[in-house]
Amino acid sequence: MNNHIETVVIIGSGPAGHTAAIYAARANLNPLMFEGFMAAGVAAGGQLTTTTEIENFPGFVSIGGPELMHHMREQAIHCGARIRTETVAKVDLSQRPFKVFSEEGDVILAKTLIIATGATAKRMRVPREEEFWQKGISACAVCDGALPLFRNQPLVVIGGGDTAVEEATYLTKFASKVYMIHRRDELRASKAMQQRAFSNPHLEIVWDTGLEDVFGDKFLEGVKLKNLKTGEEKSMEAKGLFYAIGHTPNTAFLEGQLKTDESGYIITTPGSTLTSVPGVFAAGDVQDKRYRQAVTSAGTGCMAALDAEHFLASEAHGGH
Ligand code: FAD
Ligand code: NDP
Repeated sequence: MNNHIETVVIIGSGPAGHTAAIYAARANLNPLMFEGFMAAGVAAGGQLTTTTEIENFPGFVSIGGPELMHHMREQAIHCGARIRTETVAKVDLSQRPFKVFSEEGDVILAKTLIIATGATAKRMRVPREEEFWQKGISACAVCDGALPLFRNQPLVVIGGGDTAVEEATYLTKFASKVYMIHRRDELRASKAMQQRAFSNPHLEIVWDTGLEDVFGDKFLEGVKLKNLKTGEEKSMEAKGLFYAIGHTPNTAFLEGQLKTDESGYIITTPGSTLTSVPGVFAAGDVQDKRYRQAVTSAGTGCMAALDAEHFLASEAHGGH
C-alpha cells in the first residue's frame, strides 16, 4: 500500500462525479477519480452513455449522451482532475484516512470521499428487449417521452408505483393514449398519485398483467401481455414502452458502512451531501430516488465538492 494520502477521492463518473471533480480541482484539492470499468454494467461516463439525444441539459439544445459525458470528462481533466479507469471493489470507512480498494488490487488512502456511483434502472429482460432498447424501449419517460417517435402514439408504462404514475401522467401530454401495465390489482403508488392516475382520461390501467415480450421491425410496434390471473395472452400496439419498475442504487460496494434507506439509497443530511460518516459525501442518483436527472446530479456533485472543501478547511482550523 502506498502511504500517500489523497485529499479527495471521487468514486463514479456520471454528471455528479465529473462536476465534483471540476469543482474540487478548481479548489486546488487535486481530486482523484475512479471512473469505473463497466461498473454496475455501465461504461465510464454513466447512464447517459446508454442514451442518444439529451435535450434538457442547459447549454445544449440537443447533444448525444456519450458526447456530453466526453465533454464533462475533458473539462474535469482540463481543470486538473486525475482519472483512473478502475472500479472500486470496496472501501473501509471505519477510520481516517479512509481506504479505497480498487478491483486491480490497489489500496488508496483518502482524507475525504465523494460517492457518485449512480443507480441502475431495473429492466424486465424480456426476450427481444435488447433489439428495441432506445428504439422504443426506455427507462426514463422524462428523458425520452417528448421524442417525435412517441407523439400521438399509444404508449405503455410498466409498474404500479409513484414513478409509474408520474411517468404515465407525463406521457399523456404527448401520447394518443397511455396504458399502465401493472402485475397486481392495486397500485403501490401513494393515494394522491393513485387519484391522479384514476382521474386522467388519457390513462388506462391494465391490471394483473405481465409483460411477456415485445415486437416490431426496426422500431418497437407493440407488446405481448399475459393476464396473470387467467393466463390469457394478448398483443397490444405500442410505439413506446417505458419501464418504471424501480432503480437499484450502486451501493453494494459500501457493504453497509453508510446509512441508506430500505432500498439502498445513501441518506444525506437534507440540503447537503453529508452522509452518516463525517468526511464522506454523496452526490447524484446514488442518493436521489426522486429527481434522477443529469442536471440535478451535476448540482449535487458541485455541492459535494464544496462540502468536502468546507470539511477540510474546518478540519485544518481544528474542528468541525
Ligand atoms: P451515473 O450516470 O449513474 O454514473 C455513475 C457512474 O459510476 C457509472 O459510470 C458507473 O459505472 C460508475 N460506478 C458505479 N459503481 C462504481 C464503482 N464501484 N467504482 C467506480 N465507478 C463506479 N437525465 C437527464 O437529465 N436527461 C436525459 O435526457 C436523460 N436520459 C436518460 C436516458 C437513459 C437511458 C437513462 C438510463 C438515464 C437518463 N437520464 C437523463 C438520467 C441521468 O442519466 C442520470 O440522472 C444521471 O446520469 C445520474 O448521474 P450520476 O452522476 O448520479 O450517476
Ligand atoms: P417502487 O419500488 O415503489 O415501485 C415499483 C413498481 O414496479 C411496483 O408497483 C412493482 O410492483 C413494480 N415492479 C417491480 N418489479 C417488477 C417486475 N419485475 N415486473 C413488473 N412489475 C414490477 O419504485 P418507484 O420507482 O415507483 O418509487 C421508488 C421510490 O421513490 C418510492 O419510495 C416512491 O414513493 C418514490 N417516488 C416518489 C415520487 C413522488 O412522490 N412524486 C415520484 C417517484 C418516486 P408491485 O407493486 O407489485 O411490487
